[in-house]
Amino acid sequence: MFDLLLSNALLKGRRVDVAIQGSTFAAVEPAGTLAQAEARERLDCSRFLLRAPFYNTHTHQAMTLLRGIDDDCALMDWLTREIWPREARLTPHAVYAGTRLAILEGLKSGCVAFNDMYFHQPAVIRAAEEMGVRARIGLMYMDQVSDHIENDTTLALRDALPPTIGLSIAPHALYTTSPELLRRVADQAESLGLPLHIHAAETAAETAIAKERFGFDSPIAYLDACGILRPGTILAHCCHATEADLALIAARGCFVAHCPQSNQKLASGVFPWAKAAAAGVRITVGTDGAASNNGLSMIAEAKAAALSAKLGAGAPDALRFADLDRAVTEEAAAALGFPNAGRIAPGADADFILIDLETPAFAGGGDPDANFIYAADSSCVDTVACAGRLLMRAHQVPGEADILAAARTASATLLAP
Ligand SMILES: [Zn+2]
Repeated sequence: MFDLLLSNALLKGRRVDVAIQGSTFAAVEPAGTLAQAEARERLDCSRFLLRAPFYNTHTHQAMTLLRGIDDDCALMDWLTREIWPREARLTPHAVYAGTRLAILEGLKSGCVAFNDMYFHQPAVIRAAEEMGVRARIGLMYMDQVSDHIENDTTLALRDALPPTIGLSIAPHALYTTSPELLRRVADQAESLGLPLHIHAAETAAETAIAKERFGFDSPIAYLDACGILRPGTILAHCCHATEADLALIAARGCFVAHCPQSNQKLASGVFPWAKAAAAGVRITVGTDGAASNNGLSMIAEAKAAALSAKLGAGAPDALRFADLDRAVTEEAAAALGFPNAGRIAPGADADFILIDLETPAFAGGGDPDANFIYAADSSCVDTVACAGRLLMRAHQVPGEADILAAARTASATLLAP
């Protein structure tokens, strides 16, 4: 007997029945084939598009509490004047509340995973575990020591983590870390067998710092000299990566987490998607934190990634939909350490979303998958499942009202004068 049966769903242009056993897709067959199969639960999916969900490869989840503060400020000013003084007040409880709000917002847009770099990490792990999503949580490193960073406690949890949650080594950026610190954490990543996650080549100011402070023309070349560019390293942003940088990123086997809305809002730059793809770089998409985006909808982020790639290259075919779709699903899942997730196929991890086709974006024809990203919004996402578990049904996530109330209280504390 199957645990769950999805009947007559629209999957990449054909109607299918899909069986789920435990945390895995057991069968994907033409519609009607599994009509007689026994299952604990059945969902009639006649009105739904079935898709792999999104995997958000760069974020700071609890920054939902700091959303909407000085929306018209440049990155460095904004960090030092607005964000860091407020983050000084963070507590584990606030981070837990802010992370749950971010996970809720992610689920609403069909996202089941996030790559986090933030403080009080055990609280982030607890939120992810309770809400059933996948996550990779960064052990954070900056020169400035902070009581909010709980790396030792987080590392001690490693062996007890569920298979849906992993850790990374996450030095913040080259402008907040010394070369000695970067070399030390690169060695630590090697000895612990953990991947790296860092902001890289985000702004022109960062390129200037690489030159003036460290004597490198490029932030990417500098990070490589410090040992940071290793297989699986996730480099967030890379707006200012040169063609030589992109070749290096590809050769080292790193992933880029492209964050188009944050880059546009902070006027940081335009990630050269077409050049990166031509160089063989593995590209994924992230929202960055809600304080610099400001939304966490992966639908909106995926669309922004496409628009940014097309406008940046001056060519509408600079990024084709199939490549975008793969970047935000299968490739992103692989980047986060879930190589068996991000596709609907027998034997793959049972992560999926159901999109309501009885909505305006889908009434006019065209490819429903492309319409989902280019025309729809979170209101079309009906159901979200991760590792075989239904996390959202009929637009509802358990405990929504409590999540909103707790986040409001926590945010008010951080924003108080
Ligand atoms: Zn970031």
